[in-house]
Amino acid sequence: MLVLNGKEVAGEVRSSLVPRVQAFTQKYGRAPHLSVVIVGDDPASHVYVKNKKIACEAVGMTSTLHELPADISQAELTLMIRSLNADDHVDGILVQFPLPPHLSADEVLSLVASEKDADGLTYASLGYFFAGKPFVKPCTPEGVMKILRHYKISVEGMKAVVVGRSNIVGKPMAQLLTEANATVTLCHSKTKNLSEYTLNADLVVVAAGRARMLGKDDFKKDAIVIDVGMHRAGPGGKLCGDVRYEELEGWVKAATPVPGGVGPMTIATLIENTCELAEKRASLKN
Ligand code: NDP
Repeated sequence: MLVLNGKEVAGEVRSSLVPRVQAFTQKYGRAPHLSVVIVGDDPASHVYVKNKKIACEAVGMTSTLHELPADISQAELTLMIRSLNADDHVDGILVQFPLPPHLSADEVLSLVASEKDADGLTYASLGYFFAGKPFVKPCTPEGVMKILRHYKISVEGMKAVVVGRSNIVGKPMAQLLTEANATVTLCHSKTKNLSEYTLNADLVVVAAGRARMLGKDDFKKDAIVIDVGMHRAGPGGKLCGDVRYEELEGWVKAATPVPGGVGPMTIATLIENTCELAEKRASLKN
């Protein structure tokens, strides 16, 4: 079984960004800049945003972390996002979810300007994306496509199954696979006899958010399995995915591990998206 090593591919994406960031900095006198907004003190979210900031800085980009109190009002958060939209030195904006329950994610997803939406997940950005005219592509599904391209796995003509239909992962994943000429079936919690679909697929992307839900018996011999899931539910509280990875050796052709598969690609793509948004906006002005 070929191990699809997302950690390694993410390292290559980051290395390829260093000269791009240098060229941008030389040309425009400043580095591409990501502004990260986090509300409240959820420990996991703080770890995520810290990692995003470190990843930015490792390739020579700059970033600002806006840590807002948990009791901030919707109006104050709106003002903050509007000011980032208007700030010429901000190239990418990322609002870390989940938000405290009194705040509306819908409002945020309607506010961040598409030309600065580093995640590619606002409603307007998704509209452009599904119309085939993205500013940037949603990070996690695009990270999966980068892994496939890296290992020269062409999905053209493949039967692909995506398990999960969220706006963040499943739906845009199905769109990217369709654009790459796979024939895609999108499954979800109301799908009857899920394994009838997965067993028939050349490529299965699992993003159901259910720890260790699928195993060897759900995949056909020589399938390619991409596991997007991320859970602290493995033996001894270890990280694990939606797939029982240890069953796959000797059966499937290739698979992503958890950790070290899709996860690192999400951050690498976020950083690349920010650089791309910076380049696009700067080239429009000059
Ligand atoms: P959501 O909870 O938003 O969506 C889960 C989807 O899976 C839903 O469409 C749901 O169906 C479907 N689903 C749930 N249970 C089943 C089932 N038994 N059979 C078939 N389909 C099912 O999750 P996300 O899309 O945000 O995330 C999915 C997973 O990916 C999570 O584990 C998350 O932690 C991980 N993740 C990892 C990232 C990374 O960087 N590696 C980034 C983002 C997410 P329905 O619509 O009918 O409810």
